[in-house]
Amino acid sequence: MKYIEEFQDPELARRLLDDIHATVTRPWALMEVCGGQTHTIIRHGIDQLLPDLVELIHGPGCPVCVTPLEVIDKALEIASRPEVIFCSFGDMLRVPGTGRDLFQVRSEGGDVRVVYSPLDALNIAQQNPRREVVFFGIGFETTAPPNAMTVYQAKKLGIPNFSLLVSHVRVPPAIEAIMRSPSCRVQGFLAAGHVCSVMGTGEYPELAERHRVPIVVTGFEPLDILEGVRRAVYQLERGEHTVDNAYARAVRPEGNPAALAMLRDVFEVTDRAWRGIGTIPDSGWRLSDRYREYDAEHRFQVSGINTREPAACRSGEVLQGLIKPHECEAFGTLCTPRSPLGATMVSSEGACAAYYLYRRLELTPAPKAGTAAPLEASPVV
Ligand code: SF4
Repeated sequence: MKYIEEFQDPELARRLLDDIHATVTRPWALMEVCGGQTHTIIRHGIDQLLPDLVELIHGPGCPVCVTPLEVIDKALEIASRPEVIFCSFGDMLRVPGTGRDLFQVRSEGGDVRVVYSPLDALNIAQQNPRREVVFFGIGFETTAPPNAMTVYQAKKLGIPNFSLLVSHVRVPPAIEAIMRSPSCRVQGFLAAGHVCSVMGTGEYPELAERHRVPIVVTGFEPLDILEGVRRAVYQLERGEHTVDNAYARAVRPEGNPAALAMLRDVFEVTDRAWRGIGTIPDSGWRLSDRYREYDAEHRFQVSGINTREPAACRSGEVLQGLIKPHECEAFGTLCTPRSPLGATMVSSEGACAAYYLYRRLELTPAPKAGTAAPLEASPVV
């Protein structure tokens, strides 16, 4: 079978696939929540190995992709200031804001530095007491604990010239918003295993029950994805809708208590805008009042931001699973990784980048789904 010899254990992969093929009797649509899972699926051709009756819909779980344009533009404005050293993980530097990106700010003289940990940014702050050091804290429940710990350390060590530009998002409210959308076709979820390794699985049974969807906590290796699909399809065929942990080697039901305690201390839940999707209630974190002095938005009071998305970019529909990347007219023509129109073409977890990188340009466009209504959420502010 195409691709299958590249799997870590081709024999096990064959058995899992045989089981899925033998189980499926009707069409099912599953959403993999995480962009890392999307890349595994496209890289290993898992969607092409599955029965035609099983469709994988790519979800919004790419942290770079969903960071709102307004926050990107604020980052660009703050990074342009002469007193600022702006620190970020490398994948944010090429994300297009309104008209430019962080690389461009750096080429124009801005002090933009790539770091590998938020603690690196804190060290830079200690070494440069006359400069303001800002770390771009984005991401899901996985990157939030180290960012929380860095702010905690800044306060504990009394480092006043460090701050965090926060745009953290949470997965369960996004699942809720997806299921409430009138255009939703998702019948089961492969939940992101790394998120659950931090947060546990406690938020999912209610979601599974309310929307009558199986939620299978799934890892990131090709065999993990096959096992997640196998378990989800089993439930769907039997009319079940429970939470099933298929990533038990990393996920405990209670999550990581130390990380959770840090999150509870430093952050509080807030409504959050998702790029291309809109505002989802309770879907993000912001610094709590105790740590407000370390909030870069509060410290720099950026105003006059006028965001403008490229009209041709349909990344919002890609992120909601309403279209596949190659159905966007700009895919591979106006929009490539070298000249991206949207963040989903830049990020290492973006669906458009996965389709481009793994040569899905040749795919025949599927029927247009662009008439479907977006999620029930207010416009991005
Ligand atoms: S291919 Fe490019 S323009 Fe189209 S949705 Fe993806 S990022 Fe946007």
